[in-house]
Parts: sequence; C-alpha cells; structure tokens
Amino acid sequence: MSSLTTPVLELKDVSIAYDTASLPVPAVSHVNLTLERDSIVGLVGESGSGKSTLANGIMRLLKGRARLAGGQILVDGRDVYQMDAKTLRQFRWNSMAMVFQSAMTVLNPVMTVEQQMMDVFLAHRRGLSRQEARQRSLELLDMVRIARKYARSYPHELSGGMKQRIVIAIALALEPSLVIMDEPTTALDVVVQRSILTQIQELQKERHFAILFISHDFSLVAELASRVAIMYAGRLVEVTESRGLHVGSPNHHPYTEGLMRAIPRLTPEDVDIEGIPGYPPNLRELPSGCAYHPRCPYAEPVCRAIRPEPSLIEGRLVACHRYDPEKGGEFIHVS
Ligand code: SF4
Repeated sequence: MSSLTTPVLELKDVSIAYDTASLPVPAVSHVNLTLERDSIVGLVGESGSGKSTLANGIMRLLKGRARLAGGQILVDGRDVYQMDAKTLRQFRWNSMAMVFQSAMTVLNPVMTVEQQMMDVFLAHRRGLSRQEARQRSLELLDMVRIARKYARSYPHELSGGMKQRIVIAIALALEPSLVIMDEPTTALDVVVQRSILTQIQELQKERHFAILFISHDFSLVAELASRVAIMYAGRLVEVTESRGLHVGSPNHHPYTEGLMRAIPRLTPEDVDIEGIPGYPPNLRELPSGCAYHPRCPYAEPVCRAIRPEPSLIEGRLVACHRYDPEKGGEFIHVS
C-alpha cells in the first residue's frame, strides 16, 4: 500500500536485455534510482544510451525481444511486473503515464481530440456519464490552455505544439503520481518548446506529480530538474543535484563533464564548445572495464581492466575510478 512517504518510483538493480540469436544484448544494466513525490528528475545521455528502453521498461511497454532481465520496478510501492494485464491497464493511467516525443504516435488521427480525452475517462472512471466525461475533457483543454473550440478538431488540424499539449493533458487526465516524459519537446521549435516546458513546470507545481524527464539536452534537463541522472552505455554513471552543475564545477564524472562542455553558451568567455570525441559504444561489443574509457581524457590502465562500481556519498552517485569515497567524493589520480 502506498503512502505519502513511499517513493513514486524505485528502480532496484534494473537490467533490460534484448534477446538475439547469440547472447542477450544488455541495453540497461543494474540501474538504481528513486523518485520522491513532487519531484522532477532528469535522465540524460546520448542516443542509444538506454534512456528510452528504461522508460519503456518502467511502463512495462518493452516490445519484441526486449525483456526485463533483472531487478525490480516499483511505482507507488507496487511491482509493475507482478500485475496481471487488467490491473496493469488500470494502473498505467491512474498511477503512471508517459508522454512520448511524437504526439502523432499517441493521438488517433481519425478521432477528435474530445473523443480521445473522453475515452480515457469512460474507460477508467466507472459510473461517469458521457456528459461528465465531456465536461472533464473540456477542463483538460483549459488546463493546457487550448481553447475549447478545438475540442472537435482532429489531430491533423492542430499545430505540433497543440498536439503535444493535448498528449500531456491526456497523460495527466487521471492525476497519476508518476509521469515519464521522453523527449517531449524535441520535435518542436525552440519558442514552442520553451512555452511547453514552462507549462509542464507550472502543472507539476499545481498537481504535485513526479516527473522522470528524459532528454539528450543536458542544459534543458539541468534547468528543469532538481536531480539529474546521467546514463552511458546502459548504466547510470552519475546521479547528482542539478544545482551548481555547470562547466568547471568540480568532481563530476568525466562523461558529465563532457556533456557540460558540449552545451552551446552565449557569454563571450564561454565560447569554447567541445564535443565529446568518438561515439557511444555498440552495446553488443562493450569496451572492457569502464565503457567510457575509449573517449575519456583521464583513462588509465585500471579503467581498461576493471569496471568502476558506483559509489554513493550523501545522495550523490558516481561510477568512476577517480571518484574517491574515502575523500568525500573528491577526484583523485589513479593508475
Ligand atoms: Fe574515465 Fe576511468 Fe573514470 Fe571511466 S573510470 S570515466 S575511463 S577516469
């Protein structure tokens, strides 16, 4: 039974693999992460780092050959993988919901916006009349500041920003405690993106749900979230407070450092943008030891030989041989 002190999301040693003709490919490995109520946590990493696979895994939406290979996923204290299909269907809208990158993959092109919103209420709120469901749908439009006259519109009649607002409204319809947002604004232009992000922040403050916000855009996540989890090659390499995260802030994982250096900046003293050299590894052939070693400027022999285990100090997690828990998280020289 969940209580106000039960975390909204607990990932306990979660691994997800893709089965292949030969060995399973590890897409997500041994991830531990907790989201408290009323919080926003960002999940950042390059394409192919496992972010979206993890999101689908949390929602139990893994498809094809992907499967939960180990660990436990608890939402509101309940194990998502121990529910029967009917319970899971109800649980998905009532307790956890997901906003995908492309609104068109979610919205049905042959149904009006209002019909799609009403369907959620009618399927999940027994005893609600059509009139009441319609009224609630209109209130959802108000919530995301879309004029009620668009209720009878079809998705193709709306702009990209409006469609994404509607997808957010549908996700929030039943007031879930967890909303996973997987690159929710990536397909939109910068101005619309900014306005939707502001709205997400306002809604979160009003309604107190928790958000796992997934993005490859480090600066955006650092601004929006109170905590940031950084993923590389299917593993969390750092989980840290976003306050104070900026280029030059000391004692971060070298990959976090690389992501920060790659952010375009406007001030003249900050013009040196440096991309991270090389590419993320092929998950079928992960480098030995630390998977980041081929790209890491600090790599030393031990990095190629031994995979660093994550160390947790005062709520901050880092997986790097240079991170020394004995010294309160200071970075040291290793050999
Ligand atoms: Fe770089 Fe070594 Fe740390 Fe990996 S363990 S991030 S290679 S210093």
